[in-house]
Amino acid sequence: MRKAKNNRRVPKRYFRPEVTQCPQCGTALLRLYTLWDKIIVTLEGRIHVFSQAYHCPGPTCSRHPIIYRSEAADRVAPKGSSFSFDLIIHIGWWRFGEHQTLDEIHARLRDRHLPISRRHILNLILDFLALVYATQPQRLATFRRDWERHGLYVSVDGLQPETGNDCLYVVRERTHDLTLWAVIVGNRSAENLRTQVVEPILSLGFRLRGVVSDAEEGVRDAFALSCRGIPHQACHTHCLREAAKPIFERDRALKTDLKRDFRPHLRQVRRQISALSPHDPFRPILSDYADILRLTLRQGGCPPFDLGGLQVFEDLQRLARSLRRCRKKGDILFWMRSFRLRRSAALMPENIMRSHVNVLGWLNWRDSWIQNALVVIIGLPARSSAA
Ligand SMILES: [Zn+2]
Repeated sequence: MRKAKNNRRVPKRYFRPEVTQCPQCGTALLRLYTLWDKIIVTLEGRIHVFSQAYHCPGPTCSRHPIIYRSEAADRVAPKGSSFSFDLIIHIGWWRFGEHQTLDEIHARLRDRHLPISRRHILNLILDFLALVYATQPQRLATFRRDWERHGLYVSVDGLQPETGNDCLYVVRERTHDLTLWAVIVGNRSAENLRTQVVEPILSLGFRLRGVVSDAEEGVRDAFALSCRGIPHQACHTHCLREAAKPIFERDRALKTDLKRDFRPHLRQVRRQISALSPHDPFRPILSDYADILRLTLRQGGCPPFDLGGLQVFEDLQRLARSLRRCRKKGDILFWMRSFRLRRSAALMPENIMRSHVNVLGWLNWRDSWIQNALVVIIGLPARSSAA
């Protein structure tokens, strides 16, 4: 059975109305009764909040029946909730701003000794989303004057996590980068998009000056149906992504090849490092290199400009340079006793990236380069057998 919480030591906070005198007759207000009291969990711990009701004591005053209450007390927690606004907002920020998992948020709250179950965190995340939704009219009001004067420039993007499933359409205002409208649409016909995506934007009452979207026919037709003649531009990112597709495909192939070539050798290197004596001063250095190499191979990419294969290649090159510098130092000269290592270092091309910045270039020289880099990296632990 759950034990009842001991609330005796919870600190009490009394809230009085912000108005202290009757606006009609100027008499000091008098306390009438406690309007409400509840224990609220805040980010700093639990507090027992009392909201006091006050009134004008003058029996002849016209404002005598009016009850005055504290606005500050009502701002501590949402109505009907025993969790404070600051707590709900922090949980929402940890989830959506810092992308923390439910368990990470739970651990964070436990560290603060806050009595919130893992399951209830989910409810508070929903509360946070409701609060964000409720603040939308206020956010729109902030820019109202600007939009009335200059009109709206919007972008429309459809996000479909699974093919054949519902699509989430997000309409953003471009000048202030504000989300105006988001809706899940099942049927993506032009008529349906017009009623569900275009009409809510037009109903805001601002002059639509321009639209940016991807090349989706339905979206273009939906805007053409509702507001003919408005400039509709194709999104640069989508165009560039499409244009860069062949380059990105080649880059991905390069990355796959690099990973395929390096991974088996990496395992071999790790085995050789773990075979070294724990007192060997080079063991931690070599382990660091192996870790960096492993992390380098795990890098990803994002079209059109973030090319993962190129990034992996640059990092491998940097790693090889670092290894070469390491070998030049006197205290590890014995690594160079092997002829194989010396020859591979001489073959290492300098600034390859700058002279071959094209797909065909990478693919042509990468095979020989990989061979050379492998010899250097694999050659390092050969020190134990050479010494
Ligand atoms: Zn009065």
